[in-house]
Amino acid sequence: MVGPARRIRSVLGLSCLLCGKLYPAEEVDYVCPDHGGAATLSVAYDYEYLATLTSPEQICGDPDSSIWRYRHLLPVHPEADAPPLHVGGTPLLPARVLGEGLKVNLWVKDEGRQPTASLKDRASAMAILKAQEKGADIITAASTGNAGAALAALSAAAEIPSVIFVPATAPQPKVAQLLSFGATVALVNGSYHQAFDLCLWASEEYGWYNRNTGFNPYMTEGKKTVSYEIWEQLGSQVPDVVVVSVGDGSIIGGVHKGFSDLQKLGWTDRVPRLIGAQAAGSSYMVQAWKNAEDLMTKPPILADTVADSISADLPRDRFKAMAAVTDTGGAFVEVSDSQILSAMVTMGQRMGVFAEPAAAAAMAGLRVARWEGLVEEGERVVVISTGNGLKDIDAAMRAVTESGEGPLMVDPEIEALADRLAAHFLDT
Ligand SMILES: *Cc1c(COP(=O)(O)O)cnc(C)c1O
Ligand SMILES: [Zn+2]
Repeated sequence: MVGPARRIRSVLGLSCLLCGKLYPAEEVDYVCPDHGGAATLSVAYDYEYLATLTSPEQICGDPDSSIWRYRHLLPVHPEADAPPLHVGGTPLLPARVLGEGLKVNLWVKDEGRQPTASLKDRASAMAILKAQEKGADIITAASTGNAGAALAALSAAAEIPSVIFVPATAPQPKVAQLLSFGATVALVNGSYHQAFDLCLWASEEYGWYNRNTGFNPYMTEGKKTVSYEIWEQLGSQVPDVVVVSVGDGSIIGGVHKGFSDLQKLGWTDRVPRLIGAQAAGSSYMVQAWKNAEDLMTKPPILADTVADSISADLPRDRFKAMAAVTDTGGAFVEVSDSQILSAMVTMGQRMGVFAEPAAAAAMAGLRVARWEGLVEEGERVVVISTGNGLKDIDAAMRAVTESGEGPLMVDPEIEALADRLAAHFLDT
């Protein structure tokens, strides 16, 4: 059962983006009581107090390369025990060839190197600590696959049972991860949107701790650590632009929170422009942004894209996602499925990074943003590659096949091989 938690000194409370009310963190767990199911709560900090707890020098000198090097900037008790999986500390890779092609200074933050191979591990690690604070017996989440896999693994490491709701259409590798990590898996014969609502019902009915994206306000806090790392890896500097793909909008909201924290602490004087890339078949935020639509009343769409991790009928963290773009002077762009598949191949061939479709969507988004003049020549750009290509092998095979790449089929004879090789290298 979920019970009250002890106060964390640096946390002022949970403040609502819409009504501005500040709720004590011990009294509200998930959403603003006045704004129903909409995710509008943000963890508010006493930044002056934070600045007395830590400093850039202290952080940069910390030998722990996981997200817990930032524990003073997170809503956790300093003595809390983190689950024994290494979350965070992913590489920021210079992407020289791709950068030259796009005429920008480009880096790729490779989140495919997390323990369960997506950025979602950052948020799930946070969920575990919050669930432990509450003394929860069971932890649950609805997911298109990655958030569930992350929660299942971190729950296993922390010895808390998990119940994960995913659409039955989720790619098999993601379902295999869930089952391998010992989660109870509800394969929902419906959309992610429907799985999300079922999970909400079950967590309320049974008193489980709920990690749902765009519902649990602490997920933003885990995800924001990616921005701290980018800042550290660029030598305590922020880039001009960060491009990230958007489904529910929680990652881009977290990225925004991370850079805003650094600015409020006085550790950077500006935040990067944030560009959210959506699939053309799942472009709720692009539409809302372009047409200045009201996020309270805009109805769900029927999402359909090869990039399953960003297929969202109703982005659950739409308020934070919109603020991330408007507050930073950024933009939303949309990319077609074929642009996404082609970016998967380019990232693999030009830099050896294997990205799942939703991750490659950010690279495709940068291409569009350059084309539309949203990113200028010579700017410093970070593309976040949010998940590993092994997450969706069918899509990867489709991507290489459509780009004309395929294996050489050879009979097990030397002459046959020599003929195939001669033909192949003559052709290329
Ligand atoms: C979850 C996810 C996204 C999108 O994040 P949102 O918070 O839903 O916008 C993008 N890429 C990958 C690989 C993901 O797992
Ligand atoms: Zn409110």
